[in-house]
Amino acid sequence: MSMTRVRPSIDAPIERVCSRAYTVPTDRPESDGTLSWGATTIVTARVAGAGLEGIGWTYGDRAVATLIEDTLGEVLADRNPLDVQGAWAAMVSALRNNGRPGLSSMAVSAVDVALWDLKARLLELPLAHLLGRYHEGVPVYGSGGFTSYTDAELSDQLAGWAAEGIPRVKMKVGREPERDPERVRAARAAIGPDEQLFVDANGAYSRKQALRLASAFAEYGVSWFEEPVSSDDLEGLRLIRDRAPVQMDVAAGEYGYELPYFERMLASGAVDVLQADVTRCGGITDLLRVDALCRARSMPLSLHCSPTIHAAAGTALETLVHMEYFHDHVRIENMLFDGVPHPRAGALHPALGRPGLGVPHPVEGILCPQLERPGLGVELRVADAERFAVSPGA
Ligand SMILES: [Mg+2]
Repeated sequence: MSMTRVRPSIDAPIERVCSRAYTVPTDRPESDGTLSWGATTIVTARVAGAGLEGIGWTYGDRAVATLIEDTLGEVLADRNPLDVQGAWAAMVSALRNNGRPGLSSMAVSAVDVALWDLKARLLELPLAHLLGRYHEGVPVYGSGGFTSYTDAELSDQLAGWAAEGIPRVKMKVGREPERDPERVRAARAAIGPDEQLFVDANGAYSRKQALRLASAFAEYGVSWFEEPVSSDDLEGLRLIRDRAPVQMDVAAGEYGYELPYFERMLASGAVDVLQADVTRCGGITDLLRVDALCRARSMPLSLHCSPTIHAAAGTALETLVHMEYFHDHVRIENMLFDGVPHPRAGALHPALGRPGLGVPHPVEGILCPQLERPGLGVELRVADAERFAVSPGA
């Protein structure tokens, strides 16, 4: 007599793929060195099979929802939801003539996350355990400090994260370069001497301007200079990396939409720390490959935005150093989802969920994945989300 427990439901095919876009106004006007915005659009992908549903999302134009529902919905119909990698390859093939970088890759990323979430739910496992963890949690850095903020608003926000026990914070620079040293000075004064201070220019500076400002920022202990010049200027990034003060890491990679982009950035020696975003790079499937690229080059990997997904996926990345706890996305994910994880500072936490799944551990500025619920551990609050909906559909 066989002892194998048959679970026929997990062999059921994918039944439905739906997508919805929600545009959420920001709490205050926001800008960085090269862009201003008053709202952020999140595009969800929901994939149903065997009576369960997985969810993923990306932050991009609502046109992504059309790609997901029409093009990718057709690709995924009747596929086995357990074979995420096969589904991923089929999605990428189907989008060939749309161009892989940009919206296509956002669509693949959102659906890939939904597929991993669905697989974990089908197997009744937290996603972090399905992927397997190198780390118990994901260190975070508080990120906001928009150039649209007054110096008082900037100081309050950064000091707020420091007070919550998050030991590193990031502010935007590059909008008014001549004012940036003063803004950085104000930020340092607000957070005190021990907090790590990061800056992100979003590609706003010229090469020489970035070098001059690197020296000015070093006086205030800045240890991270993100996109000092355009991340397309790999030579320029390399120049700044080579000549910036040694305590200052140069970082880029948030606009990586496919694996060759990351390989080129690494091969050119452009960065001290590579960044990647699971909602752009091709989902969890390709994020794991980015980790492998970093592993081959002994390169640290930092995750960009989308904190809830990165909390679950980030623990599976060997080269992970931290992730961006981005004000905009933190706010939106708390508004739209139940089960969003929160950083817990300097505290001992109770066991997480089912016996054996989690153990108490001291946490300081760490975002822990959901271990008490299967999958990503979050549910979309449909009624709350619906008032922000901007596209027709389910
Ligand atoms: Mg950035």
